Amino acid sequence: MARYGGRQTVTVLPGDGIGPEMFSHVQKVFDTATVPVDFEMAPLRADLTIKRDEDFENAIISIQRNGVALKGNIETKLEDPHIPRNMELRSRLKLFANIVHCVSIPTVPSRHNDLDIVMIRENTEGEYSGLEHSPQPGVVESLKIATKVKIEQIVRFAFDYAVKYNRTKVTAVHKANIQKLGDGLFLKIATEMKEQYPQIQFQSMIVDNASMQLVSRPQQFNGGIMLMPNLYGNIISNIACGLVGGPGLVSGMNIGEKYAIFETATRNTGTAISGKNIANPTAFFRASCDMLRYLGLDNYANFISDALFIALTEQGVHTKDIGGTAKTSDLVEAVIKNINAEMKKQKHIKFYGI
Ligand code: ATP
Repeated sequence: MARYGGRQTVTVLPGDGIGPEMFSHVQKVFDTATVPVDFEMAPLRADLTIKRDEDFENAIISIQRNGVALKGNIETKLEDPHIPRNMELRSRLKLFANIVHCVSIPTVPSRHNDLDIVMIRENTEGEYSGLEHSPQPGVVESLKIATKVKIEQIVRFAFDYAVKYNRTKVTAVHKANIQKLGDGLFLKIATEMKEQYPQIQFQSMIVDNASMQLVSRPQQFNGGIMLMPNLYGNIISNIACGLVGGPGLVSGMNIGEKYAIFETATRNTGTAISGKNIANPTAFFRASCDMLRYLGLDNYANFISDALFIALTEQGVHTKDIGGTAKTSDLVEAVIKNINAEMKKQKHIKFYGI
């Protein structure tokens, strides 16, 4: 990692839509909390020109040098023939695991309260292999790739995560009754590997049932991990984000052996709400806190997430997406004020872990 004179440089890919304005808020909050992190900007935007490739390679080099990146979502235009760059970044940097921790925040209106579910999703193969072709007009073949190596990697990651973070149960979500070979391999590997982790409970659940259970009785997954192949993981994680308050609230981590990218969980651009001072910056703040914890800067992360938690709960600063009337800038200012107040007191406040 790029650490000079006690400061860490991280790559920032602001992306499209609300991304650039949200990162300017993260920068302000980092400055207020005197976080020893510098941003190296790598502006990848929706773009069909040749410069696209040059910018992309520069972004990859920057992340490889710094080890970590904070990222907004890059718009994928339908007419763009290339593999989406959000996807290409994850496969080039071998970010095999996507982790989304869905926790209810008190006072934030949602369909269910007291949820605490971790979603772990395979992030680089399956339906996202980018292998589609048309052997004859009117016929398209889309390949879903399942490899033993990558399945073992994500299943091992999920069980190790459960041990490290005291999660009691792993639920493997699949459709092995229909996709007998691909999902069958996923289920077989998960079922075999559970034997090595006797302290963790294990169950498997077919994806359609898992979707229904998650919406109707999500509490049954509390304290556990839902372990999923790529596409089911995308859909189920988004459902879970919806259950705890929506796209403005939850962050997502993309972890590989060497590099990591931190972003919002639902990977939206929020183009329609950009520049209006109405987007909820919470998911971006939490992504930046996830990154600080990954860098071992836990105290700074806790400092910022406590300030955010107090603003959202005790102070009730709610943006429109969660039923309030506050502007983006109101929440940013509340977080900054809370950090300043705490810095004046010069004592650490309780870590609420959001
Ligand atoms: P586009 O269609 O260009 O992708 P969009 O704004 O129409 O952009 P998405 O980016 O897919 O839609 O976002 C989905 C929904 O989530 C939209 O209604 C958007 O306003 C909302 N949303 C996304 N991020 C946030 C946020 N940070 N705060 C509040 N609402 C958000």
